[in-house]
Amino acid sequence: MASKDFTVAIVGGGMCGLVCAYTLKKAGIAVEVFEAAPEFGEVGAGVGLGPNAVRALDRLGVLSAVLTRSEHSSPVLRPFLFVSGYDAQEAIYDQYSVGDDDRGLPIHRAAFLDAIIGISDMKIAHLNKRCVAIQHTHALATASNLSSTLFFSDGTSHRAHLVIGADGIKSTVRKYVVDPLADDAEHNTNSKNKTNLAFSGSLAYRGLLPNSTVVAAGVKIDLTVQPVCFCGIDRHIITFPIQAGRIINVVAFSSITRGDSAAGSLDELPHPWVQPVAKQELAETFQTRGWGADSDAIKLLNCMERPSRWSIHTVDPPLSSYVDPERGIALIGDAAHGMLPHLGAGVGQGFEDVVVLTELLSHPETNLSNLEHVLGAYDSARRSRGNTVLEASARMGRITERYGKSGYSNEEMRTQLAGIWGPVWHHDLSEDVNKAVEMLREKRVFKEAESS
Ligand SMILES: Cc1cc2nc3c(=O)[nH]c(=O)nc-3n(C[C@H](O)[C@H](O)[C@H](O)COP(=O)(O)OP(=O)(O)OC[C@H]3O[C@@H](n4cnc5c(N)ncnc54)[C@H](O)[C@@H]3O)c2cc1C
Repeated sequence: MASKDFTVAIVGGGMCGLVCAYTLKKAGIAVEVFEAAPEFGEVGAGVGLGPNAVRALDRLGVLSAVLTRSEHSSPVLRPFLFVSGYDAQEAIYDQYSVGDDDRGLPIHRAAFLDAIIGISDMKIAHLNKRCVAIQHTHALATASNLSSTLFFSDGTSHRAHLVIGADGIKSTVRKYVVDPLADDAEHNTNSKNKTNLAFSGSLAYRGLLPNSTVVAAGVKIDLTVQPVCFCGIDRHIITFPIQAGRIINVVAFSSITRGDSAAGSLDELPHPWVQPVAKQELAETFQTRGWGADSDAIKLLNCMERPSRWSIHTVDPPLSSYVDPERGIALIGDAAHGMLPHLGAGVGQGFEDVVVLTELLSHPETNLSNLEHVLGAYDSARRSRGNTVLEASARMGRITERYGKSGYSNEEMRTQLAGIWGPVWHHDLSEDVNKAVEMLREKRVFKEAESS
């Protein structure tokens, strides 16, 4: 029997949606997850989970399953080494050697999903279900009748008390949180929907390379030891080892600046978002900014046989709420705070959302009649942190792409980079949950704690 008198529908079965579904199901809450794709899978290679993401996974009870699939017995990912992208790979800053030894976990995205699927009851998961609209039951205005109907592109629908939008950066659910008139048919026909989605000006070329290929190509720096960031002006490359160092995950970033002939412009959203490109585009993009043909960075890029170019989008401006309590909608992950990937912090923020939201939903005093207030408490606990990390990620991109003659010196880079990950990695989630519960007690939604 379900432990709660409300039902939950999760839109999106990516990393955050599936972990959220697993956790709610484990807490005895009636939950279903709806994924647009015909199968669960992740495009886009490896993902580096920061120490805070690892702790969140531990708290959610999925860390050991994830570790097994990552081929590591404990978190191993050391902090970044920053080097010059230009020629001699001159070391700029080694975060590890300055004493930060908090470890993260690198993993292939597909392996992560396999880990969660392996421990989940997949009867609650539905594929080929692209949510195209949400209708709130206006007529029943009391909180105890909070209810929404999800409509899918295959003509089916599903009703639930609470909708969790875990549908990523292009979220359909987000518009129901940012636009109070989103479920008004006339408004939708007559006006452009607000979605708080913007092209960042950043393009990313992604690839997974066997380390043996990288070594054979003459790359001298050992990319299996720790994540490396090659810095320049308007360009940077990050690498980190995954699957026990056999594979190097590479993401090469190039910013579009005014006057660039690269695809797209700052004023428009480039379409399609992901595009295969000719191999020579990659090296040329970096060499035009002075990166030497013999540098490790260019040798590495030349290993990428079939590169694709991603237009990186972000939630911009940051949301002023992650919930619509009256409609019974909450956002998690990229749907709430899709950010630039420069701190490798996007998924971690999503897992933190999952911790706070699921702990509040499964709290013994949460029920259908106070769900609206519980969603408000989730928003208060999570939004400021999620949006702060979103802004810090953009700042990180500006630092790593200002290195060189017309930008920062080594000394200036060190000053800028010192401590940038600290607030992201070292955060007390228990304090967030406790504050949210305290807020609910102060509002007399929850009973006052008994004094001991
Ligand atoms: C180049 C790059 C590198 C990155 N590297 C890192 C990194 O190293 N570390 C890190 O922490 N983060 C990284 N990120 C960010 C990270 O990828 C995201 O934060 C993370 O994938 C968000 O997870 P999510 O579950 O919220 O969304 P997603 O992973 O986008 O999943 C959303 C799911 O919803 C489904 N969906 C979408 N619309 C609908 C709909 N209407 N109906 C039903 N289903 C729908 C999608 O098919 C998908 O399965 C990177 C991002 C990029 C672009």
